[in-house]
Amino acid sequence: MSLSCSPGSDAIRAQASCCDDHDPHSLPVPVALARIQTAVQPVTASEQVALRAALGRVLAADVVSPIDVPAHVNSAMDGYAVRAADLPDAGTVTLAVVGTAFAGAAWDGRLASGQAVRIMTGAVLPEGADCVVMQEQTEREQGGDQEGGQDRVRIGRGHRAGQNIRLAGEDLKTGETVLAAGRRVQPADLGVLASLGVAEVRVRRRLRVAFFSTGDELRSIGEPLAAGCVYDSNRYSLYGMLSRLGVELIDMGVVRDDREALQAAFREAAACADAVITSGGVSVGEADFVKDTLLSLGRIDFWKLAMKPGRPLAFGRLGEAVFFGLPGNPVSVVVTFYQFVQPALRRMMGMNAVQPVTLQVPTLARLKKRPGRTEFQRGVLEQRDDGSMAVRPTGDQGSGILSSVSRADCFIVLAADSSGVEAGDTVTVQPFEGLF
Ligand code: AMP
Ligand code: MG
Repeated sequence: MSLSCSPGSDAIRAQASCCDDHDPHSLPVPVALARIQTAVQPVTASEQVALRAALGRVLAADVVSPIDVPAHVNSAMDGYAVRAADLPDAGTVTLAVVGTAFAGAAWDGRLASGQAVRIMTGAVLPEGADCVVMQEQTEREQGGDQEGGQDRVRIGRGHRAGQNIRLAGEDLKTGETVLAAGRRVQPADLGVLASLGVAEVRVRRRLRVAFFSTGDELRSIGEPLAAGCVYDSNRYSLYGMLSRLGVELIDMGVVRDDREALQAAFREAAACADAVITSGGVSVGEADFVKDTLLSLGRIDFWKLAMKPGRPLAFGRLGEAVFFGLPGNPVSVVVTFYQFVQPALRRMMGMNAVQPVTLQVPTLARLKKRPGRTEFQRGVLEQRDDGSMAVRPTGDQGSGILSSVSRADCFIVLAADSSGVEAGDTVTVQPFEGLF
Protein backbone atom coordinates (compact mmCIF):
# COMPACT_ATOMS: atom_id res chain seq x y z
CA MET A 1 0.00 0.00 0.00
CA SER A 2 1.37 3.35 -0.98
CA LEU A 3 1.15 5.94 1.75
CA SER A 4 0.96 8.89 -0.60
CA CYS A 5 -2.29 7.84 -2.29
CA SER A 6 -3.97 5.50 0.15
CA PRO A 7 -6.98 6.55 2.25
CA GLY A 8 -4.66 6.04 5.20
CA SER A 9 -2.84 9.29 4.44
CA ASP A 10 -5.65 11.27 6.07
CA ALA A 11 -5.19 9.23 9.18
CA ILE A 12 -1.50 9.99 9.11
CA ARG A 13 -2.19 13.69 8.76
CA ALA A 14 -4.66 13.52 11.63
CA GLN A 15 -1.99 11.84 13.69
CA ALA A 16 0.52 14.55 12.89
CA SER A 17 -1.80 17.15 14.36
CA CYS A 18 -1.56 15.30 17.70
CA CYS A 19 2.04 16.44 17.74
CA ASP A 20 0.94 20.06 17.64
CA ASP A 21 2.82 21.89 20.38
CA HIS A 22 -0.41 23.50 21.56
CA ASP A 23 -2.07 20.93 23.79
CA PRO A 24 -4.75 22.24 26.12
CA HIS A 25 -4.39 19.17 28.34
CA SER A 26 -0.66 19.53 28.88
CA LEU A 27 0.70 20.90 32.13
CA PRO A 28 2.82 24.08 32.06
CA VAL A 29 6.32 23.63 33.56
CA PRO A 30 5.81 26.06 36.50
CA VAL A 31 2.51 24.37 37.43
CA ALA A 32 4.10 20.91 37.48
CA LEU A 33 7.06 22.23 39.48
CA ALA A 34 4.79 23.88 42.06
CA ARG A 35 2.67 20.71 42.41
CA ILE A 36 5.76 18.61 42.99
CA GLN A 37 7.28 21.05 45.47
CA THR A 38 4.13 21.16 47.59
CA ALA A 39 3.84 17.36 47.54
CA VAL A 40 7.28 16.67 49.05
CA GLN A 41 8.54 17.29 52.60
CA PRO A 42 12.01 17.51 54.11
CA VAL A 43 13.33 14.47 55.97
CA THR A 44 13.26 15.20 59.69
CA ALA A 45 16.01 12.97 61.06
CA SER A 46 19.42 14.53 61.64
CA GLU A 47 22.85 13.46 62.77
CA GLN A 48 25.92 15.05 64.29
CA VAL A 49 28.96 14.87 61.99
CA ALA A 50 32.59 15.94 62.22
CA LEU A 51 33.34 19.23 60.50
CA ARG A 52 35.01 17.80 57.37
CA ALA A 53 32.20 15.29 56.89
CA ALA A 54 29.71 18.17 56.76
CA LEU A 55 30.87 19.26 53.29
CA GLY A 56 27.88 19.04 50.93
CA ARG A 57 25.50 18.16 53.76
CA VAL A 58 22.47 20.25 54.72
CA LEU A 59 22.55 22.00 58.09
CA ALA A 60 19.70 20.85 60.35
CA ALA A 61 20.08 23.79 62.72
CA ASP A 62 21.42 27.34 62.66
CA VAL A 63 25.08 27.65 63.61
CA VAL A 64 25.46 30.48 66.14
CA SER A 65 28.89 31.94 66.78
CA PRO A 66 30.26 31.06 70.24
CA ILE A 67 33.05 33.67 69.95
CA ASP A 68 34.05 36.92 68.28
CA VAL A 69 36.14 36.45 65.14
CA PRO A 70 38.70 37.85 65.35
CA ALA A 71 38.77 37.50 69.11
CA HIS A 72 41.07 40.54 69.58
CA VAL A 73 41.79 43.86 67.97
CA ASN A 74 44.82 43.12 65.78
CA SER A 75 47.03 44.45 63.04
CA ALA A 76 46.17 44.00 59.36
CA MET A 77 49.76 44.86 58.30
CA ASP A 78 53.40 44.42 59.20
CA GLY A 79 54.46 47.84 60.56
CA TYR A 80 54.38 49.95 63.68
CA ALA A 81 51.61 50.33 66.24
CA VAL A 82 51.41 53.98 67.30
CA ARG A 83 49.12 56.58 68.82
CA ALA A 84 47.55 58.58 66.01
CA ALA A 85 47.75 61.72 68.15
CA ASP A 86 51.59 61.47 68.00
CA LEU A 87 51.67 61.67 64.22
CA PRO A 88 52.32 64.94 62.41
CA ASP A 89 50.10 66.93 60.05
CA ALA A 90 53.25 67.98 58.23
CA GLY A 91 56.90 66.87 58.29
CA THR A 92 57.90 63.79 60.25
CA VAL A 93 58.05 62.53 63.82
CA THR A 94 60.54 60.14 65.38
CA LEU A 95 59.19 57.61 67.88
CA ALA A 96 61.03 55.24 70.22
CA VAL A 97 60.56 51.57 69.30
CA VAL A 98 59.85 49.94 72.66
CA GLY A 99 59.10 46.37 71.65
CA THR A 100 57.73 43.89 69.14
CA ALA A 101 54.29 42.25 68.90
CA PHE A 102 54.11 38.95 67.02
CA ALA A 103 51.03 37.04 65.86
CA GLY A 104 50.37 34.72 68.79
CA ALA A 105 52.81 36.58 71.09
CA ALA A 106 51.44 39.94 72.18
CA TRP A 107 53.64 42.80 73.42
CA ASP A 108 52.97 43.07 77.09
CA GLY A 109 52.71 46.69 78.04
CA ARG A 110 51.02 49.97 77.43
CA LEU A 111 52.11 52.29 74.69
CA ALA A 112 52.95 55.77 75.95
CA SER A 113 53.09 58.98 73.94
CA GLY A 114 56.21 59.13 71.79
CA GLN A 115 56.48 55.35 71.54
CA ALA A 116 55.93 52.78 68.79
CA VAL A 117 55.79 48.98 68.84
CA ARG A 118 57.01 46.95 65.88
CA ILE A 119 53.95 44.81 64.96
CA MET A 120 53.30 41.84 62.66
CA THR A 121 50.11 41.00 60.79
CA GLY A 122 47.63 39.32 63.13
CA ALA A 123 49.40 40.44 66.33
CA VAL A 124 47.20 41.85 69.10
CA LEU A 125 47.25 45.66 69.04
CA PRO A 126 49.06 46.92 72.15
CA GLU A 127 47.03 48.84 74.69
CA GLY A 128 47.29 52.56 74.03
CA ALA A 129 47.85 52.14 70.28
CA ASP A 130 45.09 53.14 67.84
CA CYS A 131 46.86 53.12 64.48
CA VAL A 132 49.20 50.87 62.48
CA VAL A 133 51.60 52.43 59.99
CA MET A 134 52.79 50.12 57.23
CA GLN A 135 56.44 49.22 57.42
CA GLU A 136 56.96 50.54 53.86
CA GLN A 137 55.85 54.02 55.00
CA THR A 138 58.44 54.27 57.81
CA GLU A 139 62.19 54.69 58.22
CA ARG A 140 63.94 52.74 60.94
CA GLU A 141 66.90 54.38 62.74
CA GLN A 142 69.32 52.13 64.62
CA GLY A 143 69.89 52.90 68.31
CA GLY A 144 73.63 53.55 68.01
CA ASP A 145 76.51 52.23 70.11
CA GLN A 146 75.83 53.65 73.51
CA GLU A 147 74.33 51.37 76.12
CA GLY A 148 70.57 51.52 76.29
CA GLY A 149 70.52 53.09 72.85
CA GLN A 150 67.05 52.50 71.48
CA ASP A 151 65.90 51.94 67.93
CA ARG A 152 63.68 54.65 66.57
CA VAL A 153 61.26 54.94 63.71
CA ARG A 154 60.51 57.98 61.58
CA ILE A 155 56.97 58.46 60.29
CA GLY A 156 55.53 61.16 58.05
CA ARG A 157 52.04 62.64 57.59
CA GLY A 158 48.85 61.22 56.11
CA HIS A 159 47.87 58.62 58.74
CA ARG A 160 44.70 58.39 60.77
CA ALA A 161 43.37 56.59 63.84
CA GLY A 162 41.99 53.12 63.10
CA GLN A 163 43.98 52.48 59.96
CA ASN A 164 45.27 48.95 59.27
CA ILE A 165 43.46 47.66 62.32
CA ARG A 166 41.06 44.71 62.40
CA LEU A 167 38.40 45.07 65.06
CA ALA A 168 37.36 42.24 67.37
CA GLY A 169 34.23 40.58 65.96
CA GLU A 170 34.46 42.41 62.62
CA ASP A 171 34.14 39.07 60.80
CA LEU A 172 31.67 37.30 63.12
CA LYS A 173 30.18 38.36 66.44
CA THR A 174 29.31 36.19 69.43
CA GLY A 175 25.65 35.12 69.21
CA GLU A 176 25.37 35.89 65.49
CA THR A 177 23.76 33.29 63.15
CA VAL A 178 26.68 32.38 60.98
CA LEU A 179 25.08 29.69 58.80
CA ALA A 180 21.34 29.12 58.66
CA ALA A 181 19.56 25.77 58.81
CA GLY A 182 18.86 24.57 55.29
CA ARG A 183 22.22 25.65 53.93
CA ARG A 184 24.23 23.09 52.02
CA VAL A 185 27.74 23.33 53.46
CA GLN A 186 30.23 24.85 50.99
CA PRO A 187 34.04 24.67 51.13
CA ALA A 188 34.42 28.17 52.64
CA ASP A 189 31.76 27.29 55.24
CA LEU A 190 34.11 24.63 56.58
CA GLY A 191 36.72 27.36 57.02
CA VAL A 192 34.22 29.68 58.70
CA LEU A 193 33.11 26.92 61.09
CA ALA A 194 36.74 26.12 61.85
CA SER A 195 37.38 29.83 62.58
CA LEU A 196 34.72 29.49 65.30
CA GLY A 197 36.36 26.40 66.74
CA VAL A 198 33.28 24.34 65.85
CA ALA A 199 34.27 20.66 65.63
CA GLU A 200 30.89 19.09 64.76
CA VAL A 201 27.65 20.20 63.17
CA ARG A 202 24.13 18.82 63.00
CA VAL A 203 23.02 17.91 59.49
CA ARG A 204 19.94 16.28 58.00
CA ARG A 205 20.29 12.59 57.36
CA ARG A 206 21.20 11.70 53.82
CA LEU A 207 18.34 11.13 51.42
CA ARG A 208 18.14 7.60 49.99
CA VAL A 209 17.33 7.52 46.30
CA ALA A 210 16.68 4.31 44.37
CA PHE A 211 16.74 4.33 40.59
CA PHE A 212 16.45 1.93 37.69
CA SER A 213 15.95 1.91 33.95
CA THR A 214 13.09 0.13 32.23
CA GLY A 215 13.07 -1.27 28.72
CA ASP A 216 13.54 -4.61 26.97
CA GLU A 217 15.89 -2.95 24.48
CA LEU A 218 18.37 -1.87 27.17
CA ARG A 219 21.71 -3.57 27.56
CA SER A 220 24.21 -3.01 30.33
CA ILE A 221 27.84 -2.13 29.69
CA GLY A 222 29.76 -5.34 29.05
CA GLU A 223 26.86 -7.07 27.30
CA PRO A 224 26.94 -7.44 23.52
CA LEU A 225 24.64 -5.04 21.73
CA ALA A 226 22.09 -7.06 19.75
CA ALA A 227 20.28 -5.48 16.80
CA GLY A 228 17.75 -2.90 17.96
CA CYS A 229 19.26 -2.65 21.42
CA VAL A 230 20.90 0.35 23.11
CA TYR A 231 23.17 0.64 26.06
CA ASP A 232 21.46 1.91 29.18
CA SER A 233 22.86 5.43 29.47
CA ASN A 234 20.14 6.95 31.67
CA ARG A 235 21.30 5.13 34.75
CA TYR A 236 24.73 6.69 34.30
CA SER A 237 23.39 10.22 33.78
CA LEU A 238 21.25 9.71 36.88
CA TYR A 239 24.19 8.34 38.82
CA GLY A 240 26.17 11.48 37.98
CA MET A 241 23.38 13.93 38.74
CA LEU A 242 22.42 12.22 42.00
CA SER A 243 26.03 11.89 43.14
CA ARG A 244 26.48 15.64 42.77
CA LEU A 245 23.49 16.13 45.07
CA GLY A 246 25.14 14.07 47.77
CA VAL A 247 22.34 11.57 48.24
CA GLU A 248 22.74 7.89 49.08
CA LEU A 249 22.36 5.96 45.83
CA ILE A 250 20.58 2.65 45.37
CA ASP A 251 21.28 1.59 41.78
CA MET A 252 18.85 -1.17 40.87
CA GLY A 253 20.02 -1.74 37.32
CA VAL A 254 17.81 -2.46 34.32
CA VAL A 255 14.31 -3.91 34.73
CA ARG A 256 12.61 -5.60 31.79
CA ASP A 257 9.19 -4.50 30.52
CA ASP A 258 7.57 -7.33 32.43
CA ARG A 259 4.73 -6.98 34.91
CA GLU A 260 6.18 -9.19 37.67
CA ALA A 261 9.70 -7.85 37.34
CA LEU A 262 8.47 -4.25 37.43
CA GLN A 263 6.20 -4.87 40.38
CA ALA A 264 9.02 -6.48 42.36
CA ALA A 265 11.41 -3.63 41.50
CA PHE A 266 8.93 -0.89 42.42
CA ARG A 267 8.15 -2.61 45.73
CA GLU A 268 11.78 -3.14 46.62
CA ALA A 269 12.69 0.45 45.72
CA ALA A 270 9.77 1.93 47.68
CA ALA A 271 10.67 -0.12 50.73
CA CYS A 272 14.24 1.12 51.00
CA ALA A 273 14.26 4.65 49.56
CA ASP A 274 12.87 8.13 50.21
CA ALA A 275 12.61 8.69 46.49
CA VAL A 276 12.40 6.33 43.53
CA ILE A 277 13.39 7.44 40.05
CA THR A 278 12.85 5.40 36.92
CA SER A 279 13.35 6.17 33.26
CA GLY A 280 11.27 4.92 30.38
CA GLY A 281 7.84 3.38 30.24
CA VAL A 282 5.72 6.44 30.95
CA SER A 283 4.96 7.60 27.43
CA VAL A 284 1.77 6.85 25.50
CA GLY A 285 3.51 4.21 23.41
CA GLU A 286 4.32 1.98 26.35
CA ALA A 287 2.72 -1.33 27.16
CA ASP A 288 -0.12 -0.56 29.54
CA PHE A 289 1.16 -2.80 32.30
CA VAL A 290 3.86 -0.26 33.24
CA LYS A 291 1.14 2.20 34.17
CA ASP A 292 -1.07 -0.57 35.56
CA THR A 293 1.74 -1.82 37.75
CA LEU A 294 2.40 1.66 39.07
CA LEU A 295 -1.26 2.42 39.62
CA SER A 296 -1.74 -0.82 41.55
CA LEU A 297 1.12 0.12 43.87
CA GLY A 298 0.61 3.78 44.61
CA ARG A 299 -0.95 7.11 43.82
CA ILE A 300 0.65 8.18 40.58
CA ASP A 301 -0.28 10.91 38.11
CA PHE A 302 0.77 10.61 34.52
CA TRP A 303 1.38 14.06 33.21
CA LYS A 304 1.81 15.38 29.74
CA LEU A 305 4.09 18.37 30.25
CA ALA A 306 4.14 21.44 28.04
CA MET A 307 7.89 21.16 27.63
CA LYS A 308 10.44 19.97 25.12
CA PRO A 309 12.15 17.65 25.59
CA GLY A 310 10.45 15.64 28.32
CA ARG A 311 6.75 15.59 27.58
CA PRO A 312 5.65 12.58 29.69
CA LEU A 313 6.33 12.51 33.42
CA ALA A 314 4.85 10.35 36.15
CA PHE A 315 4.79 11.69 39.66
CA GLY A 316 3.31 10.45 42.90
CA ARG A 317 3.90 8.06 45.74
CA LEU A 318 4.87 4.42 46.00
CA GLY A 319 4.12 3.69 49.62
CA GLU A 320 6.07 6.26 51.63
CA ALA A 321 8.49 6.99 48.81
CA VAL A 322 8.16 9.86 46.35
CA PHE A 323 8.13 8.54 42.79
CA PHE A 324 9.41 10.16 39.62
CA GLY A 325 8.83 8.30 36.37
CA LEU A 326 11.04 10.09 33.86
CA PRO A 327 10.73 9.68 30.11
CA GLY A 328 13.13 7.25 28.46
CA ASN A 329 14.80 9.59 26.02
CA PRO A 330 18.28 10.34 27.33
CA VAL A 331 18.08 14.15 26.93
CA SER A 332 14.61 14.21 28.49
CA VAL A 333 15.99 12.42 31.53
CA VAL A 334 18.59 15.13 32.13
CA VAL A 335 16.19 18.00 31.46
CA THR A 336 13.32 16.66 33.59
CA PHE A 337 15.76 15.76 36.35
CA TYR A 338 17.09 19.32 36.60
CA GLN A 339 13.74 21.03 36.20
CA PHE A 340 11.67 18.84 38.57
CA VAL A 341 13.54 16.09 40.38
CA GLN A 342 16.50 18.09 41.62
CA PRO A 343 14.38 20.89 43.18
CA ALA A 344 12.18 18.25 44.85
CA LEU A 345 15.13 16.26 46.16
CA ARG A 346 16.74 19.46 47.44
CA ARG A 347 13.58 20.23 49.34
CA MET A 348 13.49 16.68 50.72
CA MET A 349 17.13 17.05 51.78
CA GLY A 350 16.06 20.04 53.87
CA MET A 351 17.68 22.67 51.66
CA ASN A 352 16.26 26.16 51.48
CA ALA A 353 14.70 26.92 48.11
CA VAL A 354 17.25 28.02 45.53
CA GLN A 355 16.32 29.60 42.24
CA PRO A 356 18.56 28.39 39.43
CA VAL A 357 20.90 31.14 38.27
CA THR A 358 19.82 32.49 34.90
CA LEU A 359 21.55 34.88 32.53
CA GLN A 360 20.16 37.03 29.76
CA VAL A 361 22.48 36.82 26.77
CA PRO A 362 22.22 37.17 23.00
CA THR A 363 22.07 34.00 20.93
CA LEU A 364 24.68 33.69 18.18
CA ALA A 365 22.36 31.62 15.99
CA ARG A 366 18.69 31.54 15.11
CA LEU A 367 16.67 29.15 17.32
CA LYS A 368 13.69 27.50 15.72
CA LYS A 369 10.66 26.79 17.90
CA ARG A 370 6.91 26.41 17.70
CA PRO A 371 4.73 28.06 20.34
CA GLY A 372 3.09 25.87 22.99
CA ARG A 373 5.86 24.26 25.01
CA THR A 374 8.74 25.55 27.12
CA GLU A 375 11.95 24.42 25.42
CA PHE A 376 15.23 23.58 27.07
CA GLN A 377 17.70 23.72 24.22
CA ARG A 378 21.35 23.04 24.90
CA GLY A 379 23.97 25.73 24.40
CA VAL A 380 27.55 26.76 24.95
CA LEU A 381 28.36 30.13 26.50
CA GLU A 382 31.04 32.06 24.69
CA GLN A 383 32.98 35.11 25.74
CA ARG A 384 33.15 37.67 22.95
CA ASP A 385 36.07 39.98 22.20
CA ASP A 386 34.47 42.81 24.18
CA GLY A 387 34.24 40.51 27.22
CA SER A 388 30.46 40.08 27.05
CA MET A 389 28.82 36.66 26.98
CA ALA A 390 26.69 35.10 24.26
CA VAL A 391 25.28 31.63 23.69
CA ARG A 392 25.53 29.22 20.76
CA PRO A 393 23.21 26.20 20.46
CA THR A 394 24.87 22.76 20.32
CA GLY A 395 23.52 21.66 16.96
CA ASP A 396 20.87 18.94 16.70
CA GLN A 397 18.39 19.29 19.57
CA GLY A 398 16.67 15.88 19.29
CA SER A 399 15.70 14.27 22.60
CA GLY A 400 17.89 11.27 21.79
CA ILE A 401 21.02 13.33 21.08
CA LEU A 402 22.68 13.01 24.48
CA SER A 403 25.94 14.40 23.15
CA SER A 404 24.07 17.73 22.81
CA VAL A 405 24.02 17.82 26.62
CA SER A 406 27.59 16.71 27.23
CA ARG A 407 28.85 19.29 24.70
CA ALA A 408 26.76 22.02 26.31
CA ASP A 409 27.38 24.15 29.39
CA CYS A 410 23.90 25.65 29.69
CA PHE A 411 20.23 25.26 28.89
CA ILE A 412 18.73 27.89 26.61
CA VAL A 413 15.23 28.29 28.04
CA LEU A 414 12.63 29.39 25.50
CA ALA A 415 9.25 30.36 26.96
CA ALA A 416 6.17 28.36 25.99
CA ASP A 417 4.69 31.19 23.91
CA SER A 418 7.93 31.89 22.00
CA SER A 419 7.88 31.13 18.29
CA GLY A 420 11.66 31.09 17.96
CA VAL A 421 14.30 33.79 18.10
CA GLU A 422 16.64 35.39 15.61
CA ALA A 423 20.42 35.57 15.96
CA GLY A 424 21.22 38.53 18.18
CA ASP A 425 18.01 38.28 20.21
CA THR A 426 18.34 38.02 23.97
CA VAL A 427 17.54 34.62 25.48
CA THR A 428 17.47 33.20 29.01
CA VAL A 429 20.13 30.63 29.81
CA GLN A 430 20.60 28.41 32.86
CA PRO A 431 24.32 27.71 33.24
CA PHE A 432 25.10 24.12 34.25
CA GLU A 433 27.74 25.38 36.67
CA GLY A 434 25.89 25.45 39.93
CA LEU A 435 23.06 23.41 38.43
CA PHE A 436 25.07 20.29 37.61
P1 AMP B 1 10.41 5.09 26.42
O1 AMP B 1 10.15 6.34 27.19
O2 AMP B 1 10.57 3.89 27.28
O3 AMP B 1 9.40 4.91 25.34
O4 AMP B 1 11.81 5.31 25.70
C1 AMP B 1 11.99 6.35 24.76
C2 AMP B 1 13.31 6.22 24.07
O5 AMP B 1 14.37 6.31 25.01
C3 AMP B 1 13.52 4.89 23.36
O6 AMP B 1 14.23 5.14 22.18
C4 AMP B 1 14.37 4.10 24.31
O7 AMP B 1 15.14 3.12 23.68
C5 AMP B 1 15.22 5.16 24.91
N1 AMP B 1 15.63 4.78 26.23
C6 AMP B 1 14.80 4.41 27.24
N2 AMP B 1 15.49 4.11 28.34
C7 AMP B 1 16.80 4.30 28.02
C8 AMP B 1 18.02 4.18 28.77
N3 AMP B 1 18.02 3.78 30.03
N4 AMP B 1 19.18 4.47 28.16
C9 AMP B 1 19.18 4.88 26.86
N5 AMP B 1 18.07 5.04 26.14
C10 AMP B 1 16.89 4.75 26.69
MG1 MG C 1 10.61 1.81 27.08
